Amino acid sequence: MFILDNENQLEKAILRAKKVRPHVRFISFGVYLVRGSKGNYYEVRCERMPSGEKSVSCNCRAGEKNLVCLHSVCGLSLHIGLARQRAEVGR
Ligand SMILES: [Zn+2]
Repeated sequence: MFILDNENQLEKAILRAKKVRPHVRFISFGVYLVRGSKGNYYEVRCERMPSGEKSVSCNCRAGEKNLVCLHSVCGLSLHIGLARQRAEVGR
């Protein structure tokens, strides 16, 4: 799990993830399954903590070590897009 303090800091990682384009399955707002290199799916969760900080977690090995993995970045980029759409709809 890592805390997202700045979306810009992840921009490079997101660009890289878009190149690789792993398959992402939408489960619910904030919960996504991202396909790994072996065809297995990892669960990525994007949550807002009570403190207001956004956290992203992935259940792959790197994610468990609190590293920013490709899956979490893919899930996050989808999540950011959905969150923006929601904000526009709610306006
Ligand atoms: Zn991962």
